[in-house]
Amino acid sequence: MPPSLPSLLPHKPALQDIDTTPEQLQAALDLAKVTSPDQTPIYICAFQNCFRLYPTRDRLMLHRKRDHDSQDDSLIITWNE
Ligand SMILES: [Zn+2]
Repeated sequence: MPPSLPSLLPHKPALQDIDTTPEQLQAALDLAKVTSPDQTPIYICAFQNCFRLYPTRDRLMLHRKRDHDSQDDSLIITWNE
């Protein structure tokens, strides 16, 4: 049996965050990194629930040939094209 959720979840009131300090918020912002397709090329193999990640289309296709025995170039998720 897959895990399931009850159709009705008990609700709780949303509480204001009174514990996080401004210093902690700034520290989190300093850790965050914004990237772009140019800086971080991403090609995801969406074949057969694989979802492995590659930096180039060529690398993905090599993987697909080796691991899926396929030359099919569909089902590729990317933000570079
Ligand atoms: Zn794959």
